[in-house]
Amino acid sequence: LDEVTIIGAVLDLRSKPVSQIMTPISDVFTLCTEDILDETLVDKATGYSRIPIHAPNDNGNLVGMLLTKRLITYDPEDARPVKELPISTLPETGPDTSCLDILNYFQEGKSHMALVSADPGGESGGLGIITLEDVIEELIGEE
Ligand code: ATP
Ligand code: ATP
Repeated sequence: LDEVTIIGAVLDLRSKPVSQIMTPISDVFTLCTEDILDETLVDKATGYSRIPIHAPNDNGNLVGMLLTKRLITYDPEDARPVKELPISTLPETGPDTSCLDILNYFQEGKSHMALVSADPGGESGGLGIITLEDVIEELIGEE
């Protein structure tokens, strides 16, 4: 990891679309608005800081995300459905957005995760998510 490698990687962010580094939705841990948050599910959920939420019977319809830090004050014994918890906005971007543009967006501090919409042409794939960490990994991740 040296200055030249990093500067090169920064320049590459400009021409790299988010679809190239996103996590495909099939690999993402999501919750349904109707899921009951019991102890087992809370345990699973706390493996991630941000969990996309989908509508019932429609994995492709993401309606927001749960910030797992909201679970600090939640009692699993209440066994409430996900929809009763505070759900945050999950911003959406197109598959061709550059990694540099999404980095700038994340830098504004509104969110550290975005939904990447499916490519209508099908070329750059389906739905996915991108996080600040994915972009940072492009910059300083192992070559
Ligand atoms: P943090 O590091 O803030 O605790 P995290 O470990 O939950 O958060 P990130 O660091 O944002 O997640 O991302 C790490 C990797 O995991 C990235 O590749 C990201 O796309 C992926 N990721 C993030 N959230 C999920 C999720 N709910 N399901 C599957 N993969 C996820
Ligand atoms: P996340 O974005 O994963 O929810 P966060 O908002 O708690 O995490 P970071 O995004 O890691 O925190 O950091 C944002 C800024 O807040 C940084 O300047 C960091 O140093 C600062 N920060 C992080 N944790 C604390 C804390 N407990 N008290 C005060 N400042 C903090």
